[in-house]
Amino acid sequence: MKIADLTFEVLIEAGSIAKRVDQLAQQLNTEYAGRTPIFIGVLNGSFLFVADLVKRMTIPCEVTFTKLASYYGGTSTTRKIREDIELSVDISGRHIIILEDIVDTGNTLSYLIEKLKTHAPASVQVCSLLLKPGKLESSIEELRYVGFEIENEFVVGYGLDYQELGRNLPDIYRQIS
Ligand code: 5GP
Repeated sequence: MKIADLTFEVLIEAGSIAKRVDQLAQQLNTEYAGRTPIFIGVLNGSFLFVADLVKRMTIPCEVTFTKLASYYGGTSTTRKIREDIELSVDISGRHIIILEDIVDTGNTLSYLIEKLKTHAPASVQVCSLLLKPGKLESSIEELRYVGFEIENEFVVGYGLDYQELGRNLPDIYRQIS
């Protein structure tokens, strides 16, 4: 499959994603029972993951979004993190679950965790659909829930883009050339 100048093949099929998201939701339903967590989705890439995960939550929960970008549409990370959207909810004393599409170097996530902690939440944990363990620059103790660990490769689909294309694809694809 081609997107712009790059070629991709299926890495994780929609059915496998659905099964894993279901397992993550079951785990969160159990572990957050009685705590009314606030899910904070990191836009744009997490929008499908957030939608699918929160539909499977059976405990009371809130859902909001923030936007932080470090990729600017290409395939390699940059150090600069740009904050596009301020949080619109009061998180002090609340249990926060950050929902990420993918953790690569972890720089985006570390920045967000530190920023959220200045607002005195009761707890902060992270649930990321994908993780590239080989690229992680420093371990993140809050990264407790991970859907799939993948190799150091560039992926698109299920919310993730290449030059803003491919977010609509139901499967996750990896770049092959
Ligand atoms: P980090 O700060 O962990 O290096 O980068 C995290 C962000 O970079 C993700 O939220 C995502 O927007 C983007 N990113 C990292 N790896 C990939 C990838 O393989 N494909 C796509 N489309 N975006 C990625």
